[in-house]
Amino acid sequence: MSDEALRVVDELAAALASARGAVAFTGAGISTESGIADFRSPGGVWSRYQPVPYDEFLASHEARRRFWAARREMYETLKTARPNAGHYALARLEALGRLRAVITQNIDELHQQAGSRRVLELHGTARKVACVSCEQTYPAEEIHRRVVAGDEAPTCDACGGWLKSGTVSFGQPLPMDVWRESDRLARECDLFLAIGSSLQVQPAASLPVVAKRHGARLAIVTASETPLDDFADYLIRRPIGETFERIMGRVGPSTTGVEPRT
Ligand SMILES: [Zn+2]
Repeated sequence: MSDEALRVVDELAAALASARGAVAFTGAGISTESGIADFRSPGGVWSRYQPVPYDEFLASHEARRRFWAARREMYETLKTARPNAGHYALARLEALGRLRAVITQNIDELHQQAGSRRVLELHGTARKVACVSCEQTYPAEEIHRRVVAGDEAPTCDACGGWLKSGTVSFGQPLPMDVWRESDRLARECDLFLAIGSSLQVQPAASLPVVAKRHGARLAIVTASETPLDDFADYLIRRPIGETFERIMGRVGPSTTGVEPRT
């Protein structure tokens, strides 16, 4: 890292050490270092499969088959992915009382696997499956096995309704309770960390603006430019894991290296 980049990272470490209530907001970028490609990026699953809007999913068997074909491929990636230094750092910051919560756009549950306790999933999770009729839930692993065995559009054992992964589809509203809580955290925090998000998917990308308007400092740690770069108090365009390893060396008594990594 250049001296200037290091200086900004160290300033952010100092801000985290003195923050009363920081909140993290994460996007696909934090999971690319775990080998999960941004599903929207070139070569990502949505560049090869047409996303299935929720109304089409409900209306057509063909749409449900397409939905599950894409999910099958996604799940193959998810099941072997493990958290990386960025996920572990956020879990550690929470345990140290430096971070109140992680709000995430990701559906991979890597924050929970790393030990984060308060995780708000704006787009749901791909590791659970639910019936659209009776809301019975199933582990994604179980339904994945059925899909691999040839069940192209699995249905609910309890009621025969259609099964859908627990992710928020295009055309489906964000879960209201999760959204309200995220909005409240953004208003109340004094340091808002936007990590690995291009900050372009609304309404989630409005959270940093809400935080800033209510007096929080804003840190943006991501590889790409964002529409909010000019509003950032700390702008770090560096790999996330490497950045947080340096931060943890300054904030916490323990570094990110203590957790098992496989
Ligand atoms: Zn059902």
